[in-house]
Amino acid sequence: MEYRKNDIVTLKIEDCGIDGEGIGKADGFTVFVKDAVIGDTVRAKIMKAKKNYGYGRLEEIITPSPDRVEPKCQFARQCGGCQLQALSYEKQLEFKTSKVRGHLERIGGFTDIPMEKILGMEQPFHYRNKAQFPVGKSKDGRIITGFYAGRTHSIIENRDCALGVTQNKEVLDRVIAHMEKFNIQPYDENTGKGLVRHVLIRYGFFTDEMMVCLIINGEKLPGEEALVKSLCQIPETVSVMVNVNKKRNNVILGEKVRLLWGQPYITDKIGEISYQISPLSFFQVNPYQTGRLYGKALEYAQLSGNETVWDLYCGIGTISLFLAQKAKMVRGVEIIPAAIENAKENACLNGFANTEFFVGKAEEVLPEQFARTGERADVIVVDPPRKGCDETLLSTIIEMQPDRVVYVSCDSATLARDLKYLCERGYELKKVCPVDMFPNTVSVETVVLLSQYRDKSTCLDERGSRQIEMQASRLASLLAQKPDDTIEIDLDLDELDATSAELKATYQEIKDYVLKEFGLKVSSLYISQVKRKCGIEVGENYNLPKSENARVPQCPKEKEDAIKAALKYYAMI
Ligand code: SAH
Repeated sequence: MEYRKNDIVTLKIEDCGIDGEGIGKADGFTVFVKDAVIGDTVRAKIMKAKKNYGYGRLEEIITPSPDRVEPKCQFARQCGGCQLQALSYEKQLEFKTSKVRGHLERIGGFTDIPMEKILGMEQPFHYRNKAQFPVGKSKDGRIITGFYAGRTHSIIENRDCALGVTQNKEVLDRVIAHMEKFNIQPYDENTGKGLVRHVLIRYGFFTDEMMVCLIINGEKLPGEEALVKSLCQIPETVSVMVNVNKKRNNVILGEKVRLLWGQPYITDKIGEISYQISPLSFFQVNPYQTGRLYGKALEYAQLSGNETVWDLYCGIGTISLFLAQKAKMVRGVEIIPAAIENAKENACLNGFANTEFFVGKAEEVLPEQFARTGERADVIVVDPPRKGCDETLLSTIIEMQPDRVVYVSCDSATLARDLKYLCERGYELKKVCPVDMFPNTVSVETVVLLSQYRDKSTCLDERGSRQIEMQASRLASLLAQKPDDTIEIDLDLDELDATSAELKATYQEIKDYVLKEFGLKVSSLYISQVKRKCGIEVGENYNLPKSENARVPQCPKEKEDAIKAALKYYAMI
């Protein structure tokens, strides 16, 4: 059956879309209904109709879902910031887990996903350490503050958002009272007139330090001292600032900040690491869950203290410093220069000398550094923005062959796409753990562990080591039998080398590379000779007989150079 605009349909909500909207069917016609949750039976009005599907507006909940809960915030529906507040938290976590699983299956083509239990919060409210409240006027001319209604710029008056800290309300009450007393006008986007644009509040969850920053369309605020006095009555206040933004655009913060009172930053901690956070700094908004997210990334990195690690898309170095606690060396890359400045300061603040930071695009810095130094990495961590990793970066990761890749993602669709690329080229999906960084919203963060896929036959189990002994003794007797001949031996030495920590490319891969790049055929014996020359261990079992007469062919120079190039290519030297 086809429906048209303004038709009324009754349907049972069976599924949930990626933006949290309810999905149901009326006579085979799929309808997406915002604010309806799985299990509801609803009446909806079709607002937009295509051939087989349409978008409906919730008119009435005929039978509420057993998983429906009363939203904590009375503005939940208008505001649109919390798409899932009407769904029980348990069901929210189920929804997020299945969203990740669905993407990995459909986009990534994975089956048997090694999914760990989602890390949810015990108290899924009041978790945000940062809030930016727009200031404006109501229709009757009162100064108001709150949040923009979903996709609009009209302010819904609310000083007490359920996701923010409880101190927000008191700050906003005092700021508005100050504006009324000094007759300060809020900024008007349409005319570009008025002074106060936004109030930014940042709160350190582990230090109880609070910063209040007024974003103003001018240089000075009337009665600054009085405002400071008022805000300082809130015990957690350590910093009062203004940020100047005179531009007529939607960007909230301007570049210039001025300190009115206290210190120009707050300090907060994630795990054992302290960070200084200024008004302009990027910092994760849910510090409790961030600690758990980074803890998971650290767990997956499996560091023992000897590893070289890259942290790509490192922001202010939050993950880098977490990793630096357990790695030999961590190198971070981030595109925003100011964030790298912060990263260096934070490394200093916490006394980490084993970190190095680069400004630039991950997809440019990593290949450049790899080409320059040839140094391999044991672990590469990526935490890209929603669009995921650039393909050049993924192909460099494949070239560098780290033992493990830890992928931290805020978008499971691009995550699935990138994992598919890596797993088609030698990596294996080992673990997936969704983390609920933003309860009551549809966002979900995911941490994934990939390891290099090693064919079981190259693992040194008991049977394998016996085989090696046999091969080694065969080799010995072969050489002993024909002492005067030059013999080309081409045993599969991979197994012999499998004990070596330095095994990065198989002999076959090196042979293939040399053939492809130099048109030369090389034997495993030659490869092992060159490896030895380069100081790479070639396995204890590979002991050539010391028979004086045995003439073992020596690798010619041309082939030696080609093999060295291959070893370089595989980052083994
Ligand atoms: N890992 C950090 C930040 C992750 S957010 C943390 O946990 O705090 C993603 C970061 O990637 C942002 O800081 C963004 O500025 C940066 N970024 C975006 N594109 C990039 C690119 N091509 N190369 C490097 N960094 C990039």
